[in-house]
Amino acid sequence: MTDNTEVVVIGGGYAGVMAANRLTRRADVSVTLINPRASFVERIRLHQLVGGSHDAVVGYDRVLAKGVRLVVDTVDRIDTAGRGVTLAGGDTVGYDYLVYAVGSGSADPGVPGAAEFAHPIATLEEAHRLRAVVAAAPASAPVTVVGAGPTGIETAAELAEAGRAVTLVCGGVLGPYLHPRGRRSIAGRLAGLGVTVLDGPGTKVTAVTRDAVRLADGRELPSAVTVWTAGFGVPDLAARSGLSTDAAGRLLTDETLTSVDDERVVAAGDSAAPSDLPYRMSCQSAVQLGPQAAETVLSRLAGEPPAPVSVGFAGQCISLGRRAGVFQFAQRDDTANRYRLGGRPGARLKEFICKTTVWQLSYEARKPGAHTWWATDGKRPLLLAAERDQAPASADRV
Ligand SMILES: Cc1cc2nc3c(=O)[nH]c(=O)nc-3n(C[C@H](O)[C@H](O)[C@H](O)COP(=O)(O)OP(=O)(O)OC[C@H]3O[C@@H](n4cnc5c(N)ncnc54)[C@H](O)[C@@H]3O)c2cc1C
Repeated sequence: MTDNTEVVVIGGGYAGVMAANRLTRRADVSVTLINPRASFVERIRLHQLVGGSHDAVVGYDRVLAKGVRLVVDTVDRIDTAGRGVTLAGGDTVGYDYLVYAVGSGSADPGVPGAAEFAHPIATLEEAHRLRAVVAAAPASAPVTVVGAGPTGIETAAELAEAGRAVTLVCGGVLGPYLHPRGRRSIAGRLAGLGVTVLDGPGTKVTAVTRDAVRLADGRELPSAVTVWTAGFGVPDLAARSGLSTDAAGRLLTDETLTSVDDERVVAAGDSAAPSDLPYRMSCQSAVQLGPQAAETVLSRLAGEPPAPVSVGFAGQCISLGRRAGVFQFAQRDDTANRYRLGGRPGARLKEFICKTTVWQLSYEARKPGAHTWWATDGKRPLLLAAERDQAPASADRV
């Protein structure tokens, strides 16, 4: 190893920024962060961008450590044999270690007409497009939000609060993650905002047209604006570059977040699949995985064995417009329990979480490595043991 170690981080989202900042702990490590935009996107506020209450971006000067070199470009390919990445702009950047943190975007809807006529909201550009489409639609035009996970619920509430006539099509149950008490609370607030909630198995969307949404039970809903929030998908960069991924395309790693193919590559955030048992795609796990991916690299540089990853969840916090919200508490293994905080306190807590998340990034930028304690999911060892007892994970690898 030469005196200086080059680490390239692909993706400047929650996981990538946390990883890049932590890596600056060592003066002999040069960190390059590659991201397609010159500003940090607060993805957890994209529904607010659509509703007009926040622009969902923060300057990297606020969240990135001074020592990190930011390259605004997109990685086109990873060459693990040559230890370099090729950028869409044509340049190549070499590395000693690589952090793969490309996050997620909209999943392929796989429903006729959805790709053409429905509007996703998973990226900054998609949210901007949707905002323009909503603004161009008449105030009374019917808006349909497809998908009743947190993103769908938050988007439906935000648009209803802005005076839109919103129908939320669940395609099953409202908020599958939620405890029945949390679900009742959210259903009540959505009703108060005037959102029509359609749930049950017959509400799976079978087709989207320019001005309607068709459901499995035969109903056809008029829809001037259709918003698609049913699931995230990950970029195919790892698979395209010949790295092993899980069936969804997340980079397959061991419990230290190290690629199963290459000790020089680690992964974090939505695009990582540790032990083929990925954590829930969330900002909550990304801010925990990012620094731990960096710690794995730092351990290797120090000649020490990297520690297994440790991630715990507190629950799910869902905004319901600007004046209400629900914090659905959960066990550390991410199972919702009966406790929740709703109403205006729920909204305040959600806003606090959004602000604290950005603060967490900037704290890591100023004091890399100060945070050393990780929440633990006590059930993960059992899941790993169960997985080991089953057929080899390689059968699922792409
Ligand atoms: C509307 C909405 C609300 C949400 N609310 C919550 C919430 O309340 N709580 C919660 O926990 N989660 C929430 N999420 C999910 C959360 O935003 C994501 O799980 C989180 O952003 C994942 O972080 P990440 O760092 O892995 O990826 P991202 O934040 O997606 O960042 C990845 C970065 O990598 C970049 N990138 C991708 N490909 C390349 C490439 N080839 N080269 C270079 N850069 C690349 C991307 O452009 C992006 O900047 C929400 C998501 C949405 C859309």
